[in-house]
Amino acid sequence: MSNAGPDFDSPHPRPSRKRRASAVALAVVAAGALLGWGAYATLGGPEDGGPGRGKSTAPSGRTAPSDGTSANGGIGAGAHSGSGSGPGSASGSAEASLKGKVVVIDPGHNPANHRHTAEINRKVDIGTNRKECDTTGTSTNSGYSEAAFTLDVAHRLRALLQQRGATVKLTQDGDRPYGPCVDERARIGNAAHADAVVSIHADGSGSGNRGYHVILPGEVRSGGADTRAIVGPSRELGRLVSADFGRATGTAPSNYIGDGDGIVTRKDLGGLNLSTVPKVFIECGNMRDTKDAALLTSGAWRQKAAQGISEGIVSFLRG
Ligand code: ZN
Repeated sequence: MSNAGPDFDSPHPRPSRKRRASAVALAVVAAGALLGWGAYATLGGPEDGGPGRGKSTAPSGRTAPSDGTSANGGIGAGAHSGSGSGPGSASGSAEASLKGKVVVIDPGHNPANHRHTAEINRKVDIGTNRKECDTTGTSTNSGYSEAAFTLDVAHRLRALLQQRGATVKLTQDGDRPYGPCVDERARIGNAAHADAVVSIHADGSGSGNRGYHVILPGEVRSGGADTRAIVGPSRELGRLVSADFGRATGTAPSNYIGDGDGIVTRKDLGGLNLSTVPKVFIECGNMRDTKDAALLTSGAWRQKAAQGISEGIVSFLRG
């Protein structure tokens, strides 16, 4: 479908992404300079304060289409519905395998951000430069918001990781008026001494652009940002999450960004730049593509998504 629907931050598709993708992957150092923020951070990307940010007319708080596995249901019924369907299902000795491990889940955006545009547009220090506190996120053409999606997947993921014995913390749980800001999102993971942090998003690119991608922190050392210690372990975390996500959901890596492996490195995301613990973002699909949207709005599919992310985290934490 076209992008004619209500847009939040990014009314533009990413017409040049395919062409740019290899440049981004191969020369991430130059990503910011090559692309410019406005070009890069178009639709719905994480911290995607693109040119259209601040538009907040879309119904961010809309709940997911009901299909029997609501966000909260995902913790109970949803989690059970997924049991037995994959190797990640908790059973036997695997249950406590993550005891002592701390995982921070960062559900991208906030369902109420659109009501606090002044606050979320406030610039915060991300080490390399200053950037908007947070953004509203994108939505499907039918109005299912990215913020609702990220929270739902986060709840399902939390349940799966807790079944494994992990200590799980969310950066937000729909329990605050907006945000948190991207710098605080990073600090929450740092303060928790998290063994792994995953920031959950869904993209807002053009119709026909499909698939998931995982975003790794690039090496930056500027101001309060120093990712040198986390680049390596984050790459491993991202590789595992990407592989398990693809297998669990049956979806392919992005056909519009990355080199076909669903892996992208960025240096312009405060949530990564300011992290001192292993951290990746995952863009689970493209909300603006109708085929991807059909998946993203399915509770059963979101359970698979959470399962895949969980299995990647488990593999990482087990070393
Ligand atoms: Zn996002």
